[in-house]
Amino acid sequence: MSAPPVIALDRLTKDYGQRRALGPLTLEVPAGRVGLLGPNGAGKSTLIKCLLGLVRPTSGRGTVLGFDIARRPLALRERVGYFPEVDCHVPDVSAAELVTLMGELAGLPRPDAIRRAHEVLDYVGLAEERYRPVGGYSAGMRQRVKLAQAIVHDPELLLLDEPTNALDPVSRERMLELIRDLGERRGMSIVYSSHLLSDVERVCDHVVILRGGAVIAQGRLADLRRGEGGAVDARVAGPAEALAAFRARLAAAGVAADDQQGGAVRLTGPDLSRVTLEAAREAGVQLRAFRPVRATLEDVFMEAVAAPAAPAGGG
Ligand code: ADP
Ligand code: MG
Repeated sequence: MSAPPVIALDRLTKDYGQRRALGPLTLEVPAGRVGLLGPNGAGKSTLIKCLLGLVRPTSGRGTVLGFDIARRPLALRERVGYFPEVDCHVPDVSAAELVTLMGELAGLPRPDAIRRAHEVLDYVGLAEERYRPVGGYSAGMRQRVKLAQAIVHDPELLLLDEPTNALDPVSRERMLELIRDLGERRGMSIVYSSHLLSDVERVCDHVVILRGGAVIAQGRLADLRRGEGGAVDARVAGPAEALAAFRARLAAAGVAADDQQGGAVRLTGPDLSRVTLEAAREAGVQLRAFRPVRATLEDVFMEAVAAPAAPAGGG
């Protein structure tokens, strides 16, 4: 059995007035590092706020770490860290005080909150500056305080809403490294929202692509990149019996072959490259072309960001 999903949604929707911002979403997100990718307005922030119980879904249900998001928001927030999209600082309060306060709000007794605040501020690289008012911090430092606030109570799951926004390249690298480390070495599950494919690729092994409030693609990054389980246009040459044997072998492996105009054959099914190569070798046909036609991750993402999203309905 695989591990239970960290997030499970069942026909979840969110409308703002007459306008649907999200859904209906039915989705399971595995443990690990998951990118929530989509252009502005796709519904990423709305989804994250629904998961935290900060925004009330219009319909449908969902669980996070097994807790019902509508019924157990407090239990949830003790186990989930949240890095909001907008700044939530009090300018004349120091990072040490702010992070301690967040620790207490997440349920830590004050002495633990103080100790953990110092630990996580060290971790994000704010050792010296921690007693200075946050109002005087650079954008990169403010984002790192936000990360410290999100992890002060050592959550199992971290929800990050565009954590590299407004960062210069050096600060961005640093932030990506920290987040990667939290996922890889400290074993936190991470949901990483971004409109940048390059960020998601650096941190995540799984991606959910949102557009107009709907999931348009999801899966392991490696699979999406390869177009596994997708379609390929192949060209083969050889004697008629060999070609027939090739098709029989494909069929036996669960791969469908449809003739295309111009002599190519479109293959669909699992594990296409391995199956096709083996079938060609065993049948004695020559494989002259093998071109994936299912969109790559970049294609899917470009499609998501390029054209204006169709309204998700409700309006
Ligand atoms: P993203 O984070 O992907 O940019 P959002 O979740 O912020 O997307 O927004 C999704 C949609 O919901 C957008 O059309 C946005 O304008 C709308 N929306 C978000 N928050 C509100 C709100 N508080 N009131 C009305 N509409 C909202
Ligand atoms: Mg957003």
